[in-house]
Amino acid sequence: MISTGQKIATQLIDRSRLVDTDLENIKFGRVFSDHMFVMDFLDGEWKEPVIKPFADMRISPAALVLHYSQTIFEGLKAYRTEDGAVNLFRPQANIARMNRSAERMCMPTIPEDLFLDALVQLVKLDMGWIPKGPDAALYIRPFMFASDEYIGVRPSDGYRFIIFTCPVRAYYAEPVRVKVETHYSRAFPGGTGEAKCGGNYAGGLYPAKKGAEEGFHQLIWTDGLSHKFIEESGTMNVFFNIDGNLITPALDGSILRGVTRDSIIRIANDQGIKVEERQVSVEEIHLAARNGRLRSAFGAGTAATIAQIASITFGDEEFSLPSVDERLLTNSIGETLDGIRRGRVADPYGWLVPVV
Ligand SMILES: *Cc1c(COP(=O)(O)O)cnc(C)c1O
Repeated sequence: MISTGQKIATQLIDRSRLVDTDLENIKFGRVFSDHMFVMDFLDGEWKEPVIKPFADMRISPAALVLHYSQTIFEGLKAYRTEDGAVNLFRPQANIARMNRSAERMCMPTIPEDLFLDALVQLVKLDMGWIPKGPDAALYIRPFMFASDEYIGVRPSDGYRFIIFTCPVRAYYAEPVRVKVETHYSRAFPGGTGEAKCGGNYAGGLYPAKKGAEEGFHQLIWTDGLSHKFIEESGTMNVFFNIDGNLITPALDGSILRGVTRDSIIRIANDQGIKVEERQVSVEEIHLAARNGRLRSAFGAGTAATIAQIASITFGDEEFSLPSVDERLLTNSIGETLDGIRRGRVADPYGWLVPVV
């Protein structure tokens, strides 16, 4: 492992909670592994990195984050291979993105080697929490928040950075029903759409709830200015298969730079599948759906990997997309991506970082 200036102290849990946990039956995001990494930013520097038991913590009611949402997060996974090795998938990409989010939100960046060291040590310690099975993984949640006890609007001086992990299984089992949202916005030019910051998600809850009341699992967000161009699907990037070509909205500053998105584009290119990264108009997708040229559509993100879209609604017109068996193109990309992560397929990209 790369050595860091700072050594991470470790306080082990007295008695692992693993023995009381049924890893075969877990709900996404509700079960937490034994340990967490914690580090505070005080007086202009990161201090006392430590791995300790996952537990509640004290926070002032006046902590800046609770009022003005100066907080960012990441999501990545560790996978177990068939021969028992454990790897992180592209952690450097998440570290770089977290540091870009930090800059946008006036927060301190985290030294990359220390961040990676913390991920590796934490996962190594709690790798017994990775469930067995083809769809299992350890979801890793790094996040940082403003901790100053102060209720004026300004960047905090103090911050806390934490990483904890969750054993997980498949996220969306069933293909989802989505609608194209042309009233509410998730992001807009000059806003914080590209940062993985808490406020983006809070703002999306109401429109998503309205959509859920109409029976939709997800919204397809459109641009905040004209609502004529497609941006993302819920909390995932979105891809469309039109006539066997993959099309995805280009990164324009308000779309989150997904690691899954990038991985899919690279695998597709190497499989000879054409991927167009460009502006994608609602009209184009609507027309392709009408003409039967829209063969499939899916959301892409770490939590779900590839979430197939079963139907897509424009206004009051709903279009069903072909059944799973016909989604050959997506299947070949998805299987390669999953194969690399689980060590079944060689990793020509250097995406895996071994933990053990
Ligand atoms: C995290 C996230 C994604 C997916 O990013 P991955 O790195 O692939 O997990 C896409 N859109 C939004 C809004 C996100 O928060």
